[in-house]
Amino acid sequence: MVVGDISTGTDVLIIGGGPGGYVAAIRAAQRGLDTTLVEKDEYGGVCLNRGCIPSKALITGADLAHEAGNAEEMGIHANPAVDMAQMVDWKDGIVDRLTGGVEKLCKANGVNLIKGTATFKDENSVRVAHGGEGQGSESIEFDSCIVATGSRPIEIPNFSYADDPVLGSRDALDMDTIPERLVVVGAGYIGMELSTVYAKLGTEVTVVEMLDDALPGYEDDVANVVKRRAKDLGIDFHFGEGASEWRDSSDGGITVVTETEDGEESTYPADKVLVAVGRSPVTDTLGLDAIDLEPNDRGFLETDDYARTDIDHIFAVGDVAGEPMLAHKAFKEGIVAAEVIAGEPAALDYQAVPAAVFTDPEIATVGMTKAEAEEAGFEPLVGQMPFNASGRAMTTNHTEGFCRIVADEDSGFILGAQIVGPEASELIAEVALAVEMGATLEDVAATIHTHPTLAEVVQEAAENAEGQAIHTLNR
Ligand SMILES: Cc1cc2nc3c(=O)[nH]c(=O)nc-3n(C[C@H](O)[C@H](O)[C@H](O)COP(=O)(O)OP(=O)(O)OC[C@H]3O[C@@H](n4cnc5c(N)ncnc54)[C@H](O)[C@@H]3O)c2cc1C
Repeated sequence: MVVGDISTGTDVLIIGGGPGGYVAAIRAAQRGLDTTLVEKDEYGGVCLNRGCIPSKALITGADLAHEAGNAEEMGIHANPAVDMAQMVDWKDGIVDRLTGGVEKLCKANGVNLIKGTATFKDENSVRVAHGGEGQGSESIEFDSCIVATGSRPIEIPNFSYADDPVLGSRDALDMDTIPERLVVVGAGYIGMELSTVYAKLGTEVTVVEMLDDALPGYEDDVANVVKRRAKDLGIDFHFGEGASEWRDSSDGGITVVTETEDGEESTYPADKVLVAVGRSPVTDTLGLDAIDLEPNDRGFLETDDYARTDIDHIFAVGDVAGEPMLAHKAFKEGIVAAEVIAGEPAALDYQAVPAAVFTDPEIATVGMTKAEAEEAGFEPLVGQMPFNASGRAMTTNHTEGFCRIVADEDSGFILGAQIVGPEASELIAEVALAVEMGATLEDVAATIHTHPTLAEVVQEAAENAEGQAIHTLNR
């Protein structure tokens, strides 16, 4: 029998081993289902290999170098030298430990792991091509399937990732030397995080963005805190300009050409250009024609509250299933899909999905903004606490930003929060819990918070909304 003829069966087949897929696989196996996970590339997907984890590692490295070199005020006189190749090696070590951990966890939970690319043959089977010469393929039949194929960076005309000076986010996490000049195309969260990394490592960073502001989707006063700091770090912003092409320049570098809506051109010298204009879902390589499942006009697979697609026993989770494209949203959808398949009463609830941007300072949000609360028919009550009134923030030497809590005036229920400031990504967890459990302003205000901590800003913001703040003037 040739390898291609082998046909096996499984209760649940999962396509893609990123945060959506591996979590779904582990939960399905924990529920006693025979579970098979097919991954074509690296376990852990984008998040562990070329997204969340590697970017946060470099953010930590760049922060340390920058902080150490800018702490004269604290009596620290240092001029750190950064060995970028070593920093990247350190980052790769973390990635290897985590991806190895995912593989071990899957195996320990009894998940069958298969390396290869899965394409649908019909509604109950896939073909898995093992890749590589002579490795053949196999067919797998399934009762249920979870599609977790994630997303890939969008390429723009004239900026091919195959060209050496053009970097995708993955390349920007793997450079073993620090470029002197970097043009970043796109001021969304990935562009802003990586611009900050390189600006802190000493690169001259220029950001060009087609829209008229950075960090679209965030309120102006929130985004402005980050933009101000980015400008202090030397990042040069050009809004309303789309990158149209790049050319080699006579100084051995490149020139990036941009164009406004009115056709006005500008040029920026650089050594590399990082394109970070967004990501698109991976559905084109799945053979969806064979199962009569069509992505929507943005390329996502639409799902219901149970992560189910239009075909009852085929589920979709993570980036491929729509915005927000975040790892923790993928985790949750993976768990729900697996539990629904196991016959449990699980369902998705998106009212408390936090989001964090790991810029300097960080931004983190959950639930509704004031405007969204008004739109939803609430009478929002808002409380705010600036970090410059926090003793702990002062001792960390990071006092920019604020914590804002939005609640329903009638009931006091917390509807959401927007935090921009130090450790915002950690602090938002408290408000996410509050929104999820239906806590009120009083619940948060009455909770004794450790002093001195940054978390006190959340308590103070809740007290401020109630007109009861002690350490700031009440509204
Ligand atoms: C630079 C960067 C920074 C980020 N930072 C954060 C962050 O701080 N926090 C956060 O929450 N999110 C962050 N993200 C987003 C996060 O990485 C994604 O939301 C998350 O990885 C989505 O998980 P997923 O399982 O849906 O897909 P992915 O992680 O994309 O995994 C999909 C997997 O499917 C495999 N696959 C695809 N097609 C097939 C096939 N036909 N057969 C077999 N296997 C297949 C792929 O090889 C891949 O491993 C970041 C992303 C980037 C690029």
